[in-house]
Amino acid sequence: MPRMSATAPLALPPPPPVQSDWALFLDVDGCLLDFADAPEAVVVPEGLADALARLSRALGGALAFVSGRRIVQLDALFAPLRFPSAGLHGLELREAADLAHVPDAAPEALRQARDAAERIAAGYPGARVEDKGIAIALHWRAAPAARASLEATAAAALAQLPGYRLQYGNCVVELRPAHADKGQAVQRLMGATPFAGRLPVYAGDDLTDEDAFAATNALGGVSVRIGHREPTYATHTLADTAALRAWLSEAAARLGARA
Ligand SMILES: [Mg+2]
Repeated sequence: MPRMSATAPLALPPPPPVQSDWALFLDVDGCLLDFADAPEAVVVPEGLADALARLSRALGGALAFVSGRRIVQLDALFAPLRFPSAGLHGLELREAADLAHVPDAAPEALRQARDAAERIAAGYPGARVEDKGIAIALHWRAAPAARASLEATAAAALAQLPGYRLQYGNCVVELRPAHADKGQAVQRLMGATPFAGRLPVYAGDDLTDEDAFAATNALGGVSVRIGHREPTYATHTLADTAALRAWLSEAAARLGARA
C-alpha cells in the first residue's frame, strides 16, 4: 500500500453525488449506523433500509456492505433485505449470486481466549466479548477501564493462534484470521457481477477500512472517510453518519426516480 499522509491534517473534499454507473461499498458500524454501547443495540433509522433498496435498484444491484459483522447479522439488521455483503472484514463474502464463502471452525485456542476474555469482562460492567465464530471481538465502548486488560488478553492469545492477527477498531480489538481484509473484499466483489465494470466507491470510518480505501483508489475509484480519523488513504470525506445517510438518501430520491 502507498504511504498514508501523516503530516498536516488533510483538507479532503466531500464526495460528488452518487452516479448510476457506480458500485457502492458501505461499511456499516460508525458509517451507515451510529455506534451503540453493544453491537446488538445499534438502530437502523427509519427510512434507511428503503433508501438503500431504492439506491441498490438504481445501481443495478451494485450496492454491498463491507463489515466486521457476520453476514447473518447484517441480514438480521436490514431484514427482509439481503444485500451483497462481505462479513468478518472480508472472510465471508456473498456476491449477488448469493455465494457464501464459509470459513473454517474456530481453533481451540480461540475458544480459550474467549473464555479468558469473558472472565475479565465480567469484572467491568459494560465490557463485551462478541463471539463471531472464527473471530472474537473484545469491546470496551461502555467500559473504558477494561481496555488495557482486554488488549493484553488479546495479545497473549495471539501467540497461541498461528494465522491470526489483531484488528484494532473504535473501542474494540478483534482476534481474527489474517488471510483476508476489506481491501481484498472490494477487489473480489469488483470481479463479480453486478459490480464488474463499474466505478468503485467505498465509505467507511475505521482503521479496518483503510485497506479498502487503498484498494478502491488503486482501481481509480472514490474513497470516502466518515468522520475525522487520520492519517487516511481516503480521497474524500463526510463529517459523520448522518451526513453519509443524507448523501445516500439524496441519491436514492434522484436516481430512484429514474430507475
Ligand atoms: Mg465502521
